[in-house]
Amino acid sequence: MSQSPPRFIRLLRAPTPTDVGLLAITTRGKTGFYVFKEIPSAIGGRGFEMHRLGLGTVYHVRVGKPEECACECIGFYRHGKCKHIQGLLALVGHAMI
Ligand SMILES: [Zn+2]
Repeated sequence: MSQSPPRFIRLLRAPTPTDVGLLAITTRGKTGFYVFKEIPSAIGGRGFEMHRLGLGTVYHVRVGKPEECACECIGFYRHGKCKHIQGLLALVGHAMI
């Protein structure tokens, strides 16, 4: 088993207590860059705010156990999963954030 996360997400800069992190998500050959930071979650899991560079889109994403995962994007509403959750879960699972 490889220790690196799936190829579609890359952590470019881990967040620190005082600064945001930067990650890239590649799907179907297109790469989107996001700044992100952890935000408090009062209802379980870990909360993150992701801001896609260039589009001004902000998503609030929650990851944890399957029932704790949620996102604000259309993909999540349609399919119950999305690249934001999958990407953050990969980074959390590999203890990179
Ligand atoms: Zn999403």
